Amino acid sequence: MWTDRLSVVRGDITKQIVDAIVNAANSSLLGGGGVDGAIHRAAGPDLLTECRRLKGCRTGDAKLTDGYRLPARHVIHTVGPVWHGGTTDEDALLAQCYRSCFRIAREHSFASIAFPSISTGAYGFPVERASRIAVRAMRAELESNAALRQIAVVCFDHPTFQEYQKAVAELAS
Ligand code: ADP
Repeated sequence: MWTDRLSVVRGDITKQIVDAIVNAANSSLLGGGGVDGAIHRAAGPDLLTECRRLKGCRTGDAKLTDGYRLPARHVIHTVGPVWHGGTTDEDALLAQCYRSCFRIAREHSFASIAFPSISTGAYGFPVERASRIAVRAMRAELESNAALRQIAVVCFDHPTFQEYQKAVAELAS
């Protein structure tokens, strides 16, 4: 079952040993707070140098870089939607983030990928709603891409961890 290849863990995404970790970046790709800041700090300054060459990223899209000093080999930078109360296509844009990351993972035959909870920090997307969108996209990918052996959702805090666990349990039943 798809749930055998999906884990929800509590932790720090910068410590994950995977083919790619996903960064919840902003559209400049020039670094920010939250998970973005943590990834840039852990990867070192060469990550910012590569990001500068990418000329930004639109909401819902994703771009690939090396992982530099991270244990992960690559970083997939995606830009989640800012929550505006659900009036500006936020659900569709968030789903598109996950699909964009999976498109890159498929193109490069990545077997393992770790995601943070995109958009639910500074961007204000309700985690209950975001987690269902995320896990639905993960289920679709796991069911259609056998080369993808493992997805980890790395949750920084306990409420986020609980919501993702609930989302997996709901969507598995
Ligand atoms: P966004 O701007 O997309 O909302 P944030 O970085 O503000 O992105 O928050 C996204 C999620 O990432 C939040 O749940 C936040 O607690 C979490 N987060 C922050 N630092 C880390 C980290 N080092 N590893 C994993 N998740 C993190």
